Amino acid sequence: MKIISNPLQLKDYLKTINKTIGFVPTMGALHDGHISLIKKAKEENELVVVSIFLNPTQFGKNEDLDKYPKKDEADKQICKLSGVDILFFPQAKDIYSKDEVSLQAPNVRGFVLEGYTRPSHFNGVLTVVNKLLNIVSPTRAYFGKKDAQQLNLISLMVKQLFMNVEIIAVDTVRESDGLALSSRNVYLNKDERKEALKISKALHVASVMISKNILDVDEIKIKMLEILEPLEIFYVEILNYDFEYALHVELGNTVILVEVRVGSTRLLDNIWL
Ligand code: AMP
Repeated sequence: MKIISNPLQLKDYLKTINKTIGFVPTMGALHDGHISLIKKAKEENELVVVSIFLNPTQFGKNEDLDKYPKKDEADKQICKLSGVDILFFPQAKDIYSKDEVSLQAPNVRGFVLEGYTRPSHFNGVLTVVNKLLNIVSPTRAYFGKKDAQQLNLISLMVKQLFMNVEIIAVDTVRESDGLALSSRNVYLNKDERKEALKISKALHVASVMISKNILDVDEIKIKMLEILEPLEIFYVEILNYDFEYALHVELGNTVILVEVRVGSTRLLDNIWL
């Protein structure tokens, strides 16, 4: 596995390679969720590039940039063992300069849900993903459905900016008890870890209601809120795949999204129906 930190060096190297490229952007502290993206990229491409970059521009002033888990050596081992061909490991100075061109998230979709409480978040996400896609020029780029709004906005960016990459959505990997894997789960103490299970429980109860043909969005949301209630709830929403509000669940076109705070940790999860 090659490790490259300089964007131009990586770009030049990839130019000499005539292979399909699968790209998995991450912020490190890798877990089985990231590994499933890497596996899919390996299955579908001749060469796999993973980036590990803790992107400062997607964190607000009082967010967890400084304490975000860092596991550089373990991450390198995971990438090596997962068959990654190139690990792109830049520093912030390699990606950003003082006076920056940046992307602006769309006014509606970028500022609801997670974008409502984190207003600069998706500007930072889109800016860095755009840069990374320009550096790697992959055939396909892999993103987790767990970050549903991020996936939706990146797909929109690629379409609206006529970019030459296929965005592949990958299912959420969970612990055996239902908790979605996240680098932030390490912040949870034992009691909070237990409380966090209310998220997957609420999503599960919603899917059971839907399987019994209860399709009314308000009825499902009320039940979910009952389960989540003791936690600080940022949102519980039932939307279509274009992230528009709907009155009824439509199978094949519905995503149910939850974001809560457990202790001091924001956790998000969703299911796609
Ligand atoms: P992050 O390092 O948190 O920025 O995540 C990098 C990529 O991994 C993103 O596309 C995430 O959506 C994806 N990801 C994070 N957690 C999971 C999970 N539990 N299952 C599948 N993909 C995930």
